Amino acid sequence: MKSIVFLSLFSILLLFSSCKTNNFDLENALATISVEDLVHQSKTLGSDEFMGRKPCTEGETITLNYLESEYKRIGLEPAVDGSYFQDVSLMEILNTPDDKLKITGKGKAFDFDLLTEFAAFSMRAQKEIKLDQSELIFVGYGIVAPEYNWNDYEGLDVKGKTVVVLVNDPGFGTEDESFFKGNSMTYYGRWTYKYEEAARRGADACFIIHDSKPAGYGWGVVSNGNEAPRLFLTDENNYADRCAVQGWLSQDAAKKLFEEAGLSVDLWKTAAKPGFKAIPMNLSANMEMKNSWRIDTSHNVLGVLRGSKRPDEVIIYSAHWDHFGIGRKVDGDSIYNGAVDNGTSLAWMLEIAEAFKSLKERPERSVLFLATTAEESGLLGASYYVQHPIFELSKTVANINNDLMLPYGRMKDVMITGYGQSELDDYVAEMAIKYDRYIMPDPNPHTGMYFRADHFAFAKAGVPALFARGNCDSREFGKEWALEKETNWLANNYHKVTDEYEEWWDLNGVTDDAKLLFEVGYKLSNESTFPKWKEGSEFKSLR
Ligand SMILES: [Zn+2]
Repeated sequence: MKSIVFLSLFSILLLFSSCKTNNFDLENALATISVEDLVHQSKTLGSDEFMGRKPCTEGETITLNYLESEYKRIGLEPAVDGSYFQDVSLMEILNTPDDKLKITGKGKAFDFDLLTEFAAFSMRAQKEIKLDQSELIFVGYGIVAPEYNWNDYEGLDVKGKTVVVLVNDPGFGTEDESFFKGNSMTYYGRWTYKYEEAARRGADACFIIHDSKPAGYGWGVVSNGNEAPRLFLTDENNYADRCAVQGWLSQDAAKKLFEEAGLSVDLWKTAAKPGFKAIPMNLSANMEMKNSWRIDTSHNVLGVLRGSKRPDEVIIYSAHWDHFGIGRKVDGDSIYNGAVDNGTSLAWMLEIAEAFKSLKERPERSVLFLATTAEESGLLGASYYVQHPIFELSKTVANINNDLMLPYGRMKDVMITGYGQSELDDYVAEMAIKYDRYIMPDPNPHTGMYFRADHFAFAKAGVPALFARGNCDSREFGKEWALEKETNWLANNYHKVTDEYEEWWDLNGVTDDAKLLFEVGYKLSNESTFPKWKEGSEFKSLR
C-alpha cells in the first residue's frame, strides 16, 4: 500500500514538474504585476516635476531620463545601436491666418470669421501662403475608395481649386453595415484622410464642413487647436505636396456658403448616395496666412528583450510618453500633467516589461517596448518608428498599444477599439475567459477612435494592431456607473490641467489589463504563426 502511494505521488510530482514548468514561470511573471507598482509609476509620471511631458522641452529631458532608468532597472536592452533613444526630427510650425476668409463671386463678397466660422492651418513650411480667387467646389465626402466602388473625384480636375467636403463617410447614419462600415468610421472618414486625398488630387485648399456628431468632437476642439503651433515630422520637401490651406467650416458658415451659392444643403444627403457628382459652387476663396517654423529633435524610447529562438520576429508594446506640457493657466494651474493620458498606460507597459523580464524561460520571439513621442500631435513618434523600424515590419507580429486607461477600478469587459479588424481579437477573447471577463466592441466606433491612437500608425503599415482595455462594465458598480465616470472624465479632465493623479484612484483595473495583455503577448511570443487581418479590413491588402 505504502509503496503504491509513494509511487503514484512520485509520478504525479514528475508530471507536475515536466508539464507545469511553463505555467509556474508564467504565474510567477504575472505575480510581478502589482497595483502598488502601477500607482507608483502613474503618480511619478503624472507629477508636476515632469512638467506635462511636452516634446522638445525640459519636460522631455526629465521624462527620457526617467524612462531610461526604468528600462535599465527592469533589464531591457537598448534597441537602437546601443541606445534607448531613437531621434525623431520634428517641425513646429506656427500658422497665422487672416482673421477673415473672404468669399467672392456671383457679384457677391462676404466673409467668415476666424475661429467662430472657420479654422485654417498649413503644413507647408513656406513664409506666406495665399489663396487668390481659388474656385470652390463641393466634392461630397472627398473619398476615393476602390473597395467600395466610390470616387468623389471621378473625372474632376481640382488643381488650384478649393474643395469643400463633408466629415466622416457615407456609411454614417445608415444602419447598413455593408455600406462602408455603417456607423463605424472607416479611415476614409477621418479628417487627416480628407486632406491627404485633396492633396493627392492637387487641390490648393480643403475645407471640411464640421458636424460634431459624425466628427466625434465639438467645434471647440477644432477652434482651440487652431491657435497653438503644430508639430509634424520633418519633411524634406517642406510639405510642398500638401494643400496650401487645410481647414474647417462651422455648420452655420457652411450653410451660408451653400445658400449664397444657390445650392441646397440637401446636397449633403445626396452626397451619401452612390452616383453623386461634385458640384462647382461658382464662388472663390481668398485668404492669406503667414507661417514661421523651427526644426527640433524629440525621441522615442525603445528597450528590447531578445527572443531565444526567433529574435528577428517581434511583438511591440507601446504607449506614448508625451502630453501637452505647460500651457494656459486654469484655476491657478498651468501644468497639463497627462496622468491618465498617458501616465497609466506607460505604467501598464513598464509592468508588462517587468513581467517579461522575470520569466526564467525567455520567449522565442523578441519583445520590444516602445514609448513614443508626439502622439498628441498626430501619432508622430509611432509614424516615425514605422518609417524607420528597428525590426522588419514583415516580421513584426503585432502591436499592442494602450492609451487613456481610466482609474475606475476593475472591469468585467475588455473593450476592443477597432473590433473585427484582426485575429488579435480572438487572442483577447480567449484570455478574457481565463480572467472571467468578456470582450466587447468600442460602443462609439463612429468617432473613429481606432484612427486616433498610436496603434493606427502600425495598422496603416499593415501590422496587426490592438487597442484594448477594460472600460465599460465596472465589476462592482456596473455599466451605467462606468459610463457616467467615463463621460465625466472626458468632460472635465481630458486634455485639461485636471488630468492629474488623485488619491482616490483605483488602478486594479489597469493591473488586470496588464496581466491579460501580458498573457496575449506571451502567447504570441512563443508561437511561430502570424495573426492576420480579418476579411473586410481596410489594412488586409497592406500586409
Ligand atoms: Zn493619449
